[in-house]
Amino acid sequence: MLNIILFGPPGAGKGTQAKKLLDQYQIKHLSTGDMLRAEKASGSELGQRVAAIMAAGDLVSDDIVNEIVHSQVNAHREANGFIFDGYPRTVAQAHKLEEILAGIGEKLAGLVLIVVPDQELIDRIVKRGQDSGRADDTAQVAQNRLQAYRDKTEAVANYFADKGMTHTVEGVGTIEEVFVRLRTAIDALN
Ligand code: AMP
Repeated sequence: MLNIILFGPPGAGKGTQAKKLLDQYQIKHLSTGDMLRAEKASGSELGQRVAAIMAAGDLVSDDIVNEIVHSQVNAHREANGFIFDGYPRTVAQAHKLEEILAGIGEKLAGLVLIVVPDQELIDRIVKRGQDSGRADDTAQVAQNRLQAYRDKTEAVANYFADKGMTHTVEGVGTIEEVFVRLRTAIDALN
């Protein structure tokens, strides 16, 4: 299995790149943001519980996302690997992910961090909100999501950097240019 964390602040292009990477490597894309939005859209009890938190740009509790990822990993044991997108977002989630993978006899190959300057992130997020209607893609909520990233999520990149597992790529440029950089970083993991 090839198990990768695709990492970076909101607006870095993780979702776009993850879709291209899963075609390239034939591995399963697990986006906790997509899964939570699906819960919200279905009107499930869980979806109702997380809706306000997501709308404010805050983080959903570790227990909820850990449970979602645990069940998805177990349900796709036959996959060639996983791209984790938007997860882990806290160091506690990072520990849990290592545990979940160990539970199926697997481990992470590494974390790839996409770096983009703050102002460009806000511009991209606001544009995505206008194009897609995603409710948490407004300038104000984007600031809050960036703050949550700085306060709680960036530490995950440091956690894996301490293990020599964090690899940084420049996220400014065309989608194709960034994709080539990501592929180079991922191919070097094997
Ligand atoms: P994303 O699509 O990854 O930007 O996620 C959208 C929103 O879903 C985030 O702003 C959080 O409210 C929530 N979310 C997604 N993934 C996680 C996670 N791993 N931990 C906590 N909250 C999450």
